[in-house]
Amino acid sequence: MQPAIRPVVKLFKVQLSRWRLVRDLGIHLLDVTAKSGNPAFAPRFDDVMAYKRGELSEEEYTRRYLQRMSISKKRFPQEWEKLKAIHLPIAVACYCKAGVFCHRHLFVGIAADYLKDAGIDVKLMYEITSLIPPQTETPPDDPTDTRSTTPAGTAGPPRQDRE
Ligand SMILES: [Zn+2]
Repeated sequence: MQPAIRPVVKLFKVQLSRWRLVRDLGIHLLDVTAKSGNPAFAPRFDDVMAYKRGELSEEEYTRRYLQRMSISKKRFPQEWEKLKAIHLPIAVACYCKAGVFCHRHLFVGIAADYLKDAGIDVKLMYEITSLIPPQTETPPDDPTDTRSTTPAGTAGPPRQDRE
């Protein structure tokens, strides 16, 4: 018997305000904020605030979030199991602007490792900032696309595929 061929799960990143783009692209939006009501993937609120006030370094914030996620896998295994059942590309979303350090970038790496450990192929994708992938030669030129809440060009440079 041939092994079943599993499609590669693509992991994108997106700012939550751009959720309409994610919907229109047929991508599953995974809200990893505390306000999502799902504590499994969210950072500790106090840590976010301390980081924003400059009291926690990026390094220490990262260390705490990674530790929190390793505990989360034991505490909320069903939430992690659900990740494996999403058969669409996934966009990991939080409130932070594109191009800034935040936990959605950390979570993409953690989710990739988790899925790979479960035998699922993963491809790390870019930050979604428009309906057109950043690799495309032609610049976005769709006058009907006024749905993005941020005017083009105000966000940071799109993060490239890591693969
Ligand atoms: Zn964030």
